[in-house]
Amino acid sequence: MDLEQKTALVSDALEKLYGAPEPETDENVLDCLMLTVLSQNTNDVNRDKGFAALKERYPTWEEVLNVDVEDIADAIKIAGLSGQKSQTIKNFLTWLKAEYGELDLEFIREMDTEDAIPLLSQHKGIGIKTVSVTLAFACGRDVFPVDTHVLRISKRLGFVPSNCTAEKAHQLMPQIIAEGKAYPFHMNLIAFGRRICDARKPKCDQCPITAHCLYYRGEL
Ligand code: SF4
Repeated sequence: MDLEQKTALVSDALEKLYGAPEPETDENVLDCLMLTVLSQNTNDVNRDKGFAALKERYPTWEEVLNVDVEDIADAIKIAGLSGQKSQTIKNFLTWLKAEYGELDLEFIREMDTEDAIPLLSQHKGIGIKTVSVTLAFACGRDVFPVDTHVLRISKRLGFVPSNCTAEKAHQLMPQIIAEGKAYPFHMNLIAFGRRICDARKPKCDQCPITAHCLYYRGEL
């Protein structure tokens, strides 16, 4: 069985467990990108609290652009790494305003994915995962974000080598995932990672895909 067949089988098994989620593509693209910047190295709850606090203090991105980076950091501190994230936000908004004249990223919806990825990921603090999440979640693009759960499970199942980085996995995984499956597969791997294939103590006795797992067979 090749890796393409294996990802298809695992994707089907997870859809039987969790269904086939679809993105809500009406989310504002710039909001989604900034929210994803805040999500780095924290949990969803603190990400959302940081985003809500920023929006409450500065309701528009224009206002965020016009305050000091320290004020942005103070507003988002619950999301962690606030010094780094505030600088990323400030730098990105500054670039967007200078290049396009307004703080609106909706034009990304009209761009080819191959062009949108380098345009967004050229910025410090905005890596391929952040860009992939934005394109998949806000724009409905068939791209596959690799987060910590997805990378761990992909290694255990042998989709990628055990020493693979998240960056490299962003290149390898799209080659073995069926067209149109990136979003549901990503979402279901995250659900599976949270509920069954835990980082420390995977519940292999509840797992429907043990037959595909290198970790289960002791091969990792
Ligand atoms: S068998 Fe265990 S380690 Fe392998 S995918 Fe299932 S839960 Fe994860």
